[in-house]
Amino acid sequence: MEKNIAVAIDLGATNVRMALVSKNGKILKKIKEKTSKTGPSGIVIAEQIKRMLYSLTVEKDIPKLSGIGIGSIGPLDLKKGAVINTPNLPFKFIPLVKPLEKEFNLKVALFNDCRAGVWGEKHFGAGKGKENLVFITISTGLGGGAIVNGHLLLGKDGNAGEIGHMIAETKYNFPCRCKKGYGHWEACASGNNLARFFDFWLNKNSVKKNIHFADPKDIFKAAEKGNQTALKFLDEVGRISARAVSNIIVAYNPELITIGGSVALNNPEFILNPIKKYIEHYLINPEIKITPLGDDLILLGAAACVFWPPV
Ligand SMILES: [Zn+2]
Repeated sequence: MEKNIAVAIDLGATNVRMALVSKNGKILKKIKEKTSKTGPSGIVIAEQIKRMLYSLTVEKDIPKLSGIGIGSIGPLDLKKGAVINTPNLPFKFIPLVKPLEKEFNLKVALFNDCRAGVWGEKHFGAGKGKENLVFITISTGLGGGAIVNGHLLLGKDGNAGEIGHMIAETKYNFPCRCKKGYGHWEACASGNNLARFFDFWLNKNSVKKNIHFADPKDIFKAAEKGNQTALKFLDEVGRISARAVSNIIVAYNPELITIGGSVALNNPEFILNPIKKYIEHYLINPEIKITPLGDDLILLGAAACVFWPPV
């Protein structure tokens, strides 16, 4: 009997999502838990995944599964099959591949969430039939994945595409939370930075100083209502994003760029319009759009990594 159901895991700093996904891209069952953040070591994450998997399916069906795919927060060490030194969880080393393969006797495919995401876009989404595409997530953090001539780019440790930490602005030199540099794209445009960057931008521009947004959602809400300061700020963030996207285009020469992640999915116009307005045109620009796979892209990508191993 052909095995055509995979376990897909989207391991984020906030949530662990898990699903059974069929080879034609159908999500058969999906569960979600808050990511474990307490315990003696990073092994608690693998323990949580084990527990969730036993609740997702009955034990006797596990040998019939095609494998386990994980789209994970980074950085990764693919040789060790682990997440290492992630700034978003309190564990230095989170082993995943070995403990899960041992427990379930299934092959575990571990990739960074955005690299899994672009693989999912190619197999189940807007990238079907395309050999050159980039996926960008604008969520709590910001990252990406690229497929060039049909190959998923991974780099030495699996971290090629950490585009959130490329320099996208030099006007403000705003420090990134990664503490490794200034003017990083993520520092200006991701969900956990927008409000922080807004305060900095306001100060730098000496415009009205009596506004503060505690939550990035409020910036978008204000812009929707026509608040000029919020609109001006989002235009500036878009200019920075356009610069980053222009860099991505000359680096990878994609025919398609899809954008996902909660910030982009909830505010598509405020994200796409300024990028299209300010993008550079050194090369013929690719199609740029919001991913049609929405919130499920990483799960579908993790499943795609099981059915069609990228390496
Ligand atoms: Zn950074």
